[in-house]
Amino acid sequence: MLIETHAHIDDKQFDTDRDEVIARAFQGGVEKIINIGAGLGSSQRSVVLTEKYENIFCSIGFHPHYFMEYGERSFDKISQLKALASSKKLVAIGEIGLDYFIPDRSVITEEQKELQKKGFILQLEFAKVLKLPVILHCRGSRPIAPSAYREAKDSYEDIFEIILNFPELNFVWHSFGGKLEFAEKVLKKENMLFSFSGNITYNKPNAEIFEVLRKIPIEKIMLETDCPYLAPVPMRGKRNEPSYVKYVAQKIAETKRLEIEDLAKITTENAKIFFGIKEAN
Ligand SMILES: [Zn+2]
Repeated sequence: MLIETHAHIDDKQFDTDRDEVIARAFQGGVEKIINIGAGLGSSQRSVVLTEKYENIFCSIGFHPHYFMEYGERSFDKISQLKALASSKKLVAIGEIGLDYFIPDRSVITEEQKELQKKGFILQLEFAKVLKLPVILHCRGSRPIAPSAYREAKDSYEDIFEIILNFPELNFVWHSFGGKLEFAEKVLKKENMLFSFSGNITYNKPNAEIFEVLRKIPIEKIMLETDCPYLAPVPMRGKRNEPSYVKYVAQKIAETKRLEIEDLAKITTENAKIFFGIKEAN
């Protein structure tokens, strides 16, 4: 049985068949789902989902682009998360972090970066009060050279520097896409884990991400889909859903030469410990 640690089932793409999607996951080998907040609305919807389904848990938080969009006044909004903090199935703060990739092709300014950092730190303080682990969202800026499609890795270093100030918190680098050298740095930190999503299946066999995967012990890895985005091969291009987490599991098992059953057992245990999910008895 697998745990899908990063889903957005509250997304409107699931409005017509949400119950079926969830049923498919639980019938298809998924034991639990963590639904992720990325703003006030999605955080509220995540809590509602946990009330409806026994095996759905949630996180709450503001995505970094929110602070860039609404500026200083957006910081007050963070306090509105407090109303959701009493949810019994709240297991993390996230997804929060830094995202320097601007969709409209412009380059992020220093001022925008500062707004994101302030919003991030305020939410880390909130996680500290609630004693909850943190789901990190990290995306680098668009490289200036037009030929270089891949993102720069600047936000990774900035997040790392900030979270060093919160040694009492546990972190997961969601949909990790950092370089090997950076992964090695993260590996030295006992309070940091990695999770991988469907985009690992898009890479050529010699891609750096597979070196990264081989380097990270399975005890530090969790599985996710980030649905409805990033559907793994062979579903690439379609709407992603929690049941597809099995394709992510298969790719990691293949890369690390592990039996799928062993990988499932260990990553599920990792998620239960990280999110503090206890079995009801
Ligand atoms: Zn996400």
